[in-house]
Amino acid sequence: MRDVIADAYGVLRHVTPLPNGLDCGKLCGARCCKGTQGDGMELFRGEEKRFENDPDFTICERDGRKILICSGRCDRRSRPLACRMYPFFPVPYEAEGETKIRVVYDLRGFAACPVVRGHIRPDARFVQAVRLAGMYLARDPENLRVMRETNALFDELVSFTQTIRDKD
Ligand code: SF4
Ligand code: SF4
Repeated sequence: MRDVIADAYGVLRHVTPLPNGLDCGKLCGARCCKGTQGDGMELFRGEEKRFENDPDFTICERDGRKILICSGRCDRRSRPLACRMYPFFPVPYEAEGETKIRVVYDLRGFAACPVVRGHIRPDARFVQAVRLAGMYLARDPENLRVMRETNALFDELVSFTQTIRDKD
């Protein structure tokens, strides 16, 4: 079986949401890198091997999920898939008897990320790369489950936001 993690890293190597692979962190002071030890990025299955011996990262488990904690600075070439795809995410859906992938804004970034808040249209090459990475990841049932559960979380966030609006 192909290494789906290596394939996903490969397609996301040279792209970012902005044209020409520009680092959007330079625009906002890298807000999404300013989490605490209580934050972190969920790792896809098989990704943890890349970080096990890297002193810049710690891996912990929460609710059976592997979470990567960083120091807030990293060599961009090492960053995990969650950071490579953020603030977008590949979500699976079924159509014509097969699993397909669409790319959506990561609603967890609504409060902090100017790209999500401003609905800034990402570079088309980036969207295509996130979709392709999602297709590679979906070949592994465990990683397909992670994407489905994250999508369910987005649905909950939309529903929660709607509830708040209804109360206004
Ligand atoms: S993803 Fe959003 S919050 Fe993170 S660096 Fe880019 S613009 Fe800033
Ligand atoms: S791993 Fe790197 S890109 Fe991801 S949050 Fe940490 S410092 Fe930012």
